Amino acid sequence: MTTLAVIGAGPKAVAVAAKASVLGDMGIDTPEVIAVERTGVAANWQASGGWTDGAQSLGTSPEKDVGFPYRSSLVPRRNAELDERMTRYTWQAYLIATGQFAHWIDRGRPAPTHRRWGQYLRWVADRINMSVVHGEVDRIGVTGQRWALHTQDDTVYADALMITGPGHAERTLLPGNPRVLSIAQFWHRAAQHDRITAERVAMIGGGETAAAMLNELRGHAVSTITVISPEVTLFTRGESFFENSLFSDPTHWTALTLDERRNAIARTDRGVFSSSVQELLMADDRIRHLRGRVAHAVGRDEQIRLTLSTNRGSENVETVHGFDLVIDGSGVDALWFTTLFSQEALDLLELGLGGPLSGERLQEAIGYDLAVDGVAPKLFLPNLAGLNQGPGFPNLSCLGLLSDRVLGAELPATNPARRDDEHQPVR
Ligand SMILES: Cc1cc2nc3c(=O)[nH]c(=O)nc-3n(C[C@H](O)[C@H](O)[C@H](O)COP(=O)(O)OP(=O)(O)OC[C@H]3O[C@@H](n4cnc5c(N)ncnc54)[C@H](O)[C@@H]3O)c2cc1C
Repeated sequence: MTTLAVIGAGPKAVAVAAKASVLGDMGIDTPEVIAVERTGVAANWQASGGWTDGAQSLGTSPEKDVGFPYRSSLVPRRNAELDERMTRYTWQAYLIATGQFAHWIDRGRPAPTHRRWGQYLRWVADRINMSVVHGEVDRIGVTGQRWALHTQDDTVYADALMITGPGHAERTLLPGNPRVLSIAQFWHRAAQHDRITAERVAMIGGGETAAAMLNELRGHAVSTITVISPEVTLFTRGESFFENSLFSDPTHWTALTLDERRNAIARTDRGVFSSSVQELLMADDRIRHLRGRVAHAVGRDEQIRLTLSTNRGSENVETVHGFDLVIDGSGVDALWFTTLFSQEALDLLELGLGGPLSGERLQEAIGYDLAVDGVAPKLFLPNLAGLNQGPGFPNLSCLGLLSDRVLGAELPATNPARRDDEHQPVR
């Protein structure tokens, strides 16, 4: 029996655990999946996770659930059975089991709130009796051929590791300054119905995290909102069938050049607002866009002064702007976990990468199974798999494919004698 540990019990962990559970029911050898979670299953979809107040709407359609797109290719001759069994954990199955299906249909299949989506994920986790170890991983080490995940009270050993989640919502430019809010502080205030009153507000970031906060901010007492991002303007995400299908089906993704892939991601994923949010923002004349990267921030005279660096041709121009309130919505940090690595684990990773650790190197080393090529024990990094394997893997676009890729990886079986020596956590 091999063990696959997942840091974070979000949708990716639930999707992999659900498929592993179904494979187990079918009598097929599969790793034991253990999630290590600091808060609770689907924590980032409710206010306590810091990324939302729970009342925001899910961007992708909820039918892109833990088994989507129901096109498994893991078990020769039994894939149809696998998909059929996975349909017990669909969004619709959840609605039926909880008496909400007819209402949802009659209301025109509305986007669920983040809170409701989290309830769905917890329903799946409960039904499959998902293994969750409670604790915050504060160090990732290696012991022989296994990963060792250290929490304050426990160590979880695993033959393979998958890391999920967007990083720290508490990050801010000027920690401790009440005029600068982190994403978590912003949503905490929104969840408490604490009305924000300010003349000039700056929102740093031009992606979906910032867009959700802008949408909420429109209902507060603010005179102007300046969105600061390095892009030329606030782009709208491409959402046609052709663009969406790149996310659900990455079959032809690897045939594209790296430049073509980067271009597709820039148009559909990174630093773009969904068309529904864009429409709302367009109608609000308090919102404008300022191009630049924040180089420096200082609190002075009851203001926050931001120095923006803007690339104009061959030169970098610096300008200073004053705001009453700054919201740091720059968001996701795909490398957040690297500070947890022990020196030994870091050496192992850099040996596999053939050079110092960087985001670029990691992205380019992600293999078909969504793990870093050349690194043993296996390290699955789906959040960094967009460039090499398909733009749907970091998000909710193809969780069923993600679980296929991860569970289809070659994992070494653990020597049971050695396993007995290691302390196993109480679950
Ligand atoms: C507010 C918001 C809305 C989004 N909406 C969409 C959408 O509509 N469609 C879409 O495709 N994508 C969306 N995304 C992007 C992405 O798909 C989601 O972030 C998705 O939840 C990622 O799933 P995940 O399993 O990687 O992590 P998450 O759901 O973020 O779960 C990570 C978990 O890890 C836990 N954790 C973090 N650090 C540790 C640690 N050190 N030790 C233990 N546990 C830890 C957290 O408590 C959390 O439960 C959204 C992202 C956010 C933040």
